Amino acid sequence: MLTEIVTDQQLIDLYTTPGYLVAVDYPKKEVKLHTIDCMLADPISSVGVKPSKARENNTGEFWVSESRDEAVSKAEELAKNKGYTYTVCRICDR
Ligand SMILES: [Zn+2]
Repeated sequence: MLTEIVTDQQLIDLYTTPGYLVAVDYPKKEVKLHTIDCMLADPISSVGVKPSKARENNTGEFWVSESRDEAVSKAEELAKNKGYTYTVCRICDR
């Protein structure tokens, strides 16, 4: 099931759950797929995504699914609809 993530805390609570994060970056016009345990998907990390701030500033949106296929479909759909680039994160794609 796809869940929209609107706060950092929601994502922090999911950290130990297996799953995938779709991160949409409006300024970069980019959709990126991460595993939930990727450091770039961790709001606590300085390099990680910050859903609360993105929501507040309208600079992005985030979706989580336990299914990789579902996350990829959502990422591809978002990229297509917005004309953004879709990439799989090189750090956690293993
Ligand atoms: Zn990643």
